[in-house]
Amino acid sequence: MMRIVLLGPPGSGKGTQAKLLERHFGIPQVSTGDIFRKAVAAKTELGDRVAKYLEAGALVPDDLTVGLVRERLKQSDVGRGFVLDGFPRTVPQAVGIEEILREQGWELDAVVNINTPTEVLVPRLALRRTCPTCGMVFHLEHRPPDGDGRCTACGSAVVTRPDDNVETVKKRIAVYNAQTSALVDYYRKKSKLIDVDGMGDADDVFDGIQAALEQRRKGSERRA
Ligand code: ADP
Repeated sequence: MMRIVLLGPPGSGKGTQAKLLERHFGIPQVSTGDIFRKAVAAKTELGDRVAKYLEAGALVPDDLTVGLVRERLKQSDVGRGFVLDGFPRTVPQAVGIEEILREQGWELDAVVNINTPTEVLVPRLALRRTCPTCGMVFHLEHRPPDGDGRCTACGSAVVTRPDDNVETVKKRIAVYNAQTSALVDYYRKKSKLIDVDGMGDADDVFDGIQAALEQRRKGSERRA
C-alpha cells in the first residue's frame, strides 16, 4: 500500500516522478492538472468552469478541486494506493484530503517534497513538452519525445502547454510561493515530509525518492 503526495513548484518534476512511481508501485497517478486539462480539451462543464484559471496560471477554487479529488478517489483503481500529483496545493486542500482519507479509513504514507531552485524552473518549462493524452512529460534536451515529436508511451503528438509561456510560468511560481509552499512546513510538522533533491536527471531523483521511502518504511517497522 502506498499513498503518496508529490509537492514542489511547477517544473520541479512532479509529473515525471509521478509516472515513475506509478510504474514502479503499480499505483495510479492522480494529477489534478491533467484532469483539468482533459476537461478543458473535451469542453465539458468542468472544463468550462476551470479554463480561465488554467490560462491565467491561477488556482482553481478549493471546493471544486477537493470535490473532484473526492470523486476520483472513489474509483476502484486506487485500492492499492495512489500518487497525488499537484494536489493538495493549499492548506484548505490539505485539510480536505485528510477528511477524504479519513472517510475511507486511509492515511498518507509520505509527502515527497522535490527541492528545486527557482532559477532552473523557467528554463526547464520553456523546454517542456507534454502529452495531451497520457500526461507524460518531456524535455527537449534531457528527455526528448520520439524523433517526430510523439509521446514515447502512447504515440500522441506532444504539445507545449499554453500555460508554459514565461509570463504564466512566473505567475504559477508566485502562486506556489504564496499558497503552496506553506504545505512543506505543514507536512513536516505532521512527520510526513520526505525531502529529495530535484536536480540531476529524472532517474537519479527517482532513486532518491525510493531510498527515502524505503528508509521511512524501515523506520516505521522498527517503531511498530
Ligand atoms: P504544474 O505543476 O506544472 O504547475 P499542473 O498540471 O499541476 O502543473 O497544474 C496546472 C494548472 O492546473 C494550475 O496552474 C492550476 O490552474 C490548475 N490546478 C492543478 N492542480 C490544482 C489544485 N490542486 N488546486 C487548484 N488548481 C489546480
